[in-house]
Amino acid sequence: MRAYDCVIVGAGPAGGRAGMSIAKAGHTVLFLEKRDVVGVPVQCGEGLSQFGLENAGLSEHADWVRERVKGVRAILPDGSDFTVTIPGYCIDRAKFDQWVVQTAVDAGAELRLRTKVSGVHRHDGGWIVETDRGDSFRARTLIGADGPASNVARWAGLLQQRVYVKAVEYRFAAQDWSYPCDGWLIFVYAQKYRGGYAWVFPKNGFYDVGVLAMDRVKELMDAFCAEMRVPLDRIHKKTGGDIPLRYTFSSLAAPGLAIVGDAAGVTNPVFGGGIHPALYSGKVAGDVAVEALARDEMARFQEYDRIMKGSPFLDPVLWKTADLFASWDDAHYNFAGDVVDHGDTGDVTTMRAFWRILTRHPRYLSETRDLLTMRRGMSLTQKYGW
Ligand SMILES: Cc1cc2nc3c(=O)[nH]c(=O)nc-3n(C[C@H](O)[C@H](O)[C@H](O)COP(=O)(O)OP(=O)(O)OC[C@H]3O[C@@H](n4cnc5c(N)ncnc54)[C@H](O)[C@@H]3O)c2cc1C
Repeated sequence: MRAYDCVIVGAGPAGGRAGMSIAKAGHTVLFLEKRDVVGVPVQCGEGLSQFGLENAGLSEHADWVRERVKGVRAILPDGSDFTVTIPGYCIDRAKFDQWVVQTAVDAGAELRLRTKVSGVHRHDGGWIVETDRGDSFRARTLIGADGPASNVARWAGLLQQRVYVKAVEYRFAAQDWSYPCDGWLIFVYAQKYRGGYAWVFPKNGFYDVGVLAMDRVKELMDAFCAEMRVPLDRIHKKTGGDIPLRYTFSSLAAPGLAIVGDAAGVTNPVFGGGIHPALYSGKVAGDVAVEALARDEMARFQEYDRIMKGSPFLDPVLWKTADLFASWDDAHYNFAGDVVDHGDTGDVTTMRAFWRILTRHPRYLSETRDLLTMRRGMSLTQKYGW
């Protein structure tokens, strides 16, 4: 049986980023990935903030930038809007994932495609990883980067509960349908999405239209497509999938094991963005694994749980904010647009927002506490949410 310093289950952004650090430190790394090609098929809206990239110690590459964006323009039920400036990109997610994983491979990691991990168990202070091809690998350390299904965490007995939202997305070529995004990601809010939203993302020659919601996603998508008059007979590509909303773990780590990315449920519950949290958690897990391998102290992996639970990605205010959005009716969304004066949220101080509520919407004063919670949740989401 072949032995590795680290086996990584799943070659997405979380696993890829972890593998990059571990391979660069000179340890032997094996990626086991069930897909035929890394990153394919893409199940993503492909929005990534510039800060998210930098926060994971990475920098921009022309190969995977489709279009630069200024941030989010929120469209409200009464048709008004406001903006949230967060410079970033619409990326080519397949090329992005391949670039992250290839960087680890260039540093010495091995990649086995078409290999589905079917079980993991503890053995002799390390881990045995079994695959559907009937082979097994010995691992001193193990990274569970297997996306929203989070099987490695389940097999290791760490996962307690999983709640997720669903998203669907259709792509259109610009000659068939277009929307005046003007360099913004368009988020359309309404009560019917129950805390989710519909979106239009510009992709340099293409436009992606999608819906993220707790339930009835297909029905909401049909209604949104009708509203936006998209030519449903000209869909270039369809995608969709599950996005973690709230995962509960006894711990995100065990001796010699870390659970990262969507598998760890670190995805932002307000925007549903998970690439930045995946990259960041992968980086932290990689750094912790390097330390643990160098000192041969597998208990050090608890440090990963401590860092992630104390990080802005898992601040409980995010779930409170998501719950409050889920309770909002259309009037609340329209009110939010008026409070920020339909401008950019960065230009509105808490005092000015409070003054507008006092003078224009006094009936919302009784919700001041919730609104302050949401302001805190939104400012974390703005920085760490995509
Ligand atoms: C429709 C949709 C739109 C989205 N839009 C955005 C967006 O615009 N911006 C954003 O930031 N986030 C978005 N997300 C979320 C984002 O895609 C995820 O958060 C991100 O992919 C998480 O990365 P990851 O590496 O943790 O997991 P994944 O990217 O899911 O990678 C996991 C990998 O593990 C492999 N795997 C799983 N099980 C096994 C196994 N048993 N054996 C071997 N391999 C296995 C999978 O094949 C996969 O390659 C969207 C999600 C969806 C569904």
